[in-house]
Amino acid sequence: MYIKKLTNLWVFLGLLFGAVVAIAEEQAPIKSVSVQVNWHHQYQFAGFYAALAQGYYRDEGLDVTIKDWRPGLDIVDEVVSGRATFGTAYSSAVVDFIHGAPIAAVMTSFQFSPMVLLSKEPITHLSQLSGKTVSHYNNLQILALLNRAEQDLTAPLITIPPSGDLNDFINKKIDLYGAYETNEPYQLKEHNLSYHLVKPADFGVNSMEDIVIVAQKFADRYPDVVERFRRATVAGWRYAIDNQPEVVAFIMQNYPVVKSEQALVYEAQATTKYVRVGRIPIGAIDASRVLATAAEARDIGLITDSLFNQFSPKAFIFNSTGLGSLTEEERAFLHQNPVIRIGNDINWAPFEFIDAKGQYAGMVADYFRLFEQRLGVRFEPQKNTTWSETLSKVQQGEIHLLSGATPTPERLEYLKFTQPYLTFPMVLAGNPDTFFINHYQELEGKTVAVVRDYWSHEYLQNNYPQVNLYLVDSVLEGLQAVMSGKAFVYSGNLAVINYIMRQQGITGMQIVGQSDQRFELAIGVPRDNPLLFSIMQKALDDITLDEHNAIYAKWVNLSLLTRLDNRQLFQLLIYGLLIAFALIAWIVVYRVQKQQLKVFLSQVNELSYASHIDPHTYKIVWASDSYTKLTGYSSSELAELSILDLMRVKMSEDELAMIVNQVMKGDSWTGEIEGQSKQGVSYWVEITLSPQRNLFGKVEKLLATRVNITDKKRLETQSIEDELTGLYNRRYLLQLFDKELGRLKRLNHTLCLAVFDLDYFKLINDTYGHEQGDQVLQQISMLSKVYFGRANDYVFRLGGEEFLIMTSNQSSTVFMEQLEKFRLAIITARIPNESTELGWLSLSLGAGVWASDSISAFKDVYRDLDNALYLAKNLGRNKLVMIDEDTQAQPST
Ligand code: GH3
Ligand code: MG
Ligand code: MG
Repeated sequence: MYIKKLTNLWVFLGLLFGAVVAIAEEQAPIKSVSVQVNWHHQYQFAGFYAALAQGYYRDEGLDVTIKDWRPGLDIVDEVVSGRATFGTAYSSAVVDFIHGAPIAAVMTSFQFSPMVLLSKEPITHLSQLSGKTVSHYNNLQILALLNRAEQDLTAPLITIPPSGDLNDFINKKIDLYGAYETNEPYQLKEHNLSYHLVKPADFGVNSMEDIVIVAQKFADRYPDVVERFRRATVAGWRYAIDNQPEVVAFIMQNYPVVKSEQALVYEAQATTKYVRVGRIPIGAIDASRVLATAAEARDIGLITDSLFNQFSPKAFIFNSTGLGSLTEEERAFLHQNPVIRIGNDINWAPFEFIDAKGQYAGMVADYFRLFEQRLGVRFEPQKNTTWSETLSKVQQGEIHLLSGATPTPERLEYLKFTQPYLTFPMVLAGNPDTFFINHYQELEGKTVAVVRDYWSHEYLQNNYPQVNLYLVDSVLEGLQAVMSGKAFVYSGNLAVINYIMRQQGITGMQIVGQSDQRFELAIGVPRDNPLLFSIMQKALDDITLDEHNAIYAKWVNLSLLTRLDNRQLFQLLIYGLLIAFALIAWIVVYRVQKQQLKVFLSQVNELSYASHIDPHTYKIVWASDSYTKLTGYSSSELAELSILDLMRVKMSEDELAMIVNQVMKGDSWTGEIEGQSKQGVSYWVEITLSPQRNLFGKVEKLLATRVNITDKKRLETQSIEDELTGLYNRRYLLQLFDKELGRLKRLNHTLCLAVFDLDYFKLINDTYGHEQGDQVLQQISMLSKVYFGRANDYVFRLGGEEFLIMTSNQSSTVFMEQLEKFRLAIITARIPNESTELGWLSLSLGAGVWASDSISAFKDVYRDLDNALYLAKNLGRNKLVMIDEDTQAQPST
């Protein structure tokens, strides 16, 4: 009884305490949150540190603590128990979620997993893992890899719990050591210790990593806090990528870091490619990839089929409540401002422009259409205002916001910018004879066309004051200024330049330089209107990845974005000039020789390469010194031989008899013959047989005069073959393409094309020397011929280390499989490229299959191929990108 009362009392006190805490929480908006990292402090968590250092969290009203890690910590447990608000979990958090852990995924730090196993010996086949000791963190990729290995093992693997001490690997206590590719390799390199990487991706396993999770309860209760945390962290990553040394210094100064500053710098460089991948927004979690990760977990038996079937990835992803989270004040603002005037550019396709029908169109316009649907207000665009006028109108408050602009220092003074939503590289466009411009310094003293008040204008003015600017009012005007010679180059945005060139049919210009700067478009809202700013940021956050992709695909189809490798173009130009020069030289020599021949004809004895031939036996009865020398025989040996004996591929006797007959009748005969010297060396001559009459006018013997055309013949083959690799060259491709296309059209066969480019090939030259580089090119060429060596297969060297494969009559699937085999063969060939992470040379491919009647010229397909290759590079290299058949025939606008 007594005891029971006491318990009741505790229960009562517990309830009371809980209620008090709940009330306290309800009233004070949560400000203090923590994030639990899953390793020692290092650059892997740069997004958090940078957001702290830059005050991004503070700006969002958050006070964030980054919690130290210790071995044995279970991140999911830390978050669920509330010891940490957020945590960076391994991708296996998906499995925990499916098994009921009440968590949600806020964002992902890495779009691909840098998780690998370190090994002392190279692992090329999973059976080599047999009997080895392994320690890892139950990371999904590693589990999937080990599972795949299982069937090949001759002795089971011995799993040892991880100690977090790399010495265990160094001292051979552990054979296979779970590590981050961005991390431990540096420590080993620093001590000159050899190691090999076993990458799950090489064995077909891949998913996201370092997923930021939060307890579901917390997310339900404070969605706004989660969203603000996510936004600030993403901004932090963006800052960290662009300011690596600064963020490294911040980590060193503020946290107990176990590795050296040097190691952090290495890690920073290695990390970027996992965080910013192609066009995927930093941090974005895509439902389809979560599903793929779950499928991986199912395959390795971590979840059952039925759990997998019930799993909805959207339930796992924290729904950035976006517009659900509009505050009362924000809703009131929208209510009072049903029409919001936006400051847009009227002539900046494909971003935004007023089209022929007077409608606001372009990528930015499409975003604003989505905002209209979501916010229930109308955005009213400018239709006749120049960009400069728009800028002053927004400063005077006549316009509510800038729809798409780059945050420049000047603009930041009066505008607050949302997170960027469109990004493109900045390039220079010039005439084709312009040499490639590597650095903007090279532009000093030159005139560069820029659109007044565009980003390039401000950028060049502030950073390169020695550059003369030629200000124009539109991109077209800028390009025209270059074509007419008023400016040396035009500086602007790749997507726009391409769009305008295509739209206007400008063909005489090309990209002659690229800046490291990326151009990023965001919405700019005057600083005195914070309500509208947060509304626009929320509206933007609410745009789904699919919607982003749809807009991108609509305006920047593959055929729009062109990458011109100007170094290659320049090389091709030099090759072209060399060949042209050699041909001219040959023609001159040939002419002179012919001329001389005529003079010498009167002095037969001194005639070069001349000989007399017996018309009955075809024996050489006399030979000039030069001819004797050419054949390599002595004159007495020659006297024993017939002209047939001297031919490399012998003419038939009948054929020769006919020719001789003709000459006996008084005509002369000229033909090209390949001779073979006594030493077996081939030479080519243009031989002229003419009748040699005696004093009575009777034809007694034949006079053979020859012009040595060995050089010409060699040039002829050279001009279709690449000298280094023996593959066909680009010139021959252009010759052959139309012919082959015609043939395929007649047969109604498909045309299959692939371009490939060696990955990080420059490093091979840098590391092993140019000569070794050449050998590698030969080796790759040989392999390409092995894989594409059928009768109608062709491999061309387009220039440098870029190649093209042409074959036909295959389906997209079959061609893709064949290319995949080839790609794997290159990896398997294990051509060392130590300075890269893979350690071996790899290549990237862009390919497609076309109905032959859909094409009329090579240029129709090359652009798409080149873009696909570019994409393959961007996806991380060692990739094949097939051009989607649906996007091939996109209209140009
Ligand atoms: P990635 O393509 O993966 O972006 O990197 P990469 O290092 O391969 O870069 P890129 O294609 O721009 O560089 C090509 C390098 O190839 C530059 C040049 O040093 C080298 N190269 C081009 N032609 C030859 C050649 O005939 N012989 C050798 N040895 N090297 C060549
Ligand atoms: Mg390359
Ligand atoms: Mg290249």
